[in-house]
Amino acid sequence: MCILLLVPVGIWLFWQPDTLRLFLSRRPESIIIHHSASPPRVHGRPVDAAAIDAMHARRGFGIVHEGKVYHIGYHYVVLPDGTVQAGRPEECVGAHARHVNEHSLGICLVGNFHSAENPSGAQGPVRPTPAQMDALIELCARLCRTYRIPVERVCRHRDVGETACPGDRFPFETFQSHLRERVERGGRSIKDLLWQRGE
Ligand SMILES: [Zn+2]
Repeated sequence: MCILLLVPVGIWLFWQPDTLRLFLSRRPESIIIHHSASPPRVHGRPVDAAAIDAMHARRGFGIVHEGKVYHIGYHYVVLPDGTVQAGRPEECVGAHARHVNEHSLGICLVGNFHSAENPSGAQGPVRPTPAQMDALIELCARLCRTYRIPVERVCRHRDVGETACPGDRFPFETFQSHLRERVERGGRSIKDLLWQRGE
């Protein structure tokens, strides 16, 4: 009798849109850090989430989420002044690092931090600005706590692919130790960090 009742109730529950979405939702297991490998401005226009969205549209990237198309492959963009911009929603699979897109979140710092490409600052700051690093650490700490991602699984793109991204001047060790500290200490919510949403 009990089982006879539980089966239809279970089926009904499963097909509720929210339950189904929860069942199908992926949980990010790592965070991948990138740089845009560009100056902060190109042809007089800032390189930001909107510009990267347009660039990725030309490369054929795109995903539809709740009726809106997102071309940008990253989940967040951090500008040199520390502004954090949303890219595609966290629920969406990214398009930023081959082989690990499925279970990772992608964050792009605007700038070129590779000494071979930007040796003396002709393409803007040779390493991330203090404001940019602080925003990145805060954002990663929040994501680590939300998804229970260990600090060791916050990687550079170069750690998971054949690339120099985010450049040899990205201060990875310093970043890791500050992030570890920030994760333990707690911090602001993502909503407080977003100065501008791409929607
Ligand atoms: Zn990259």
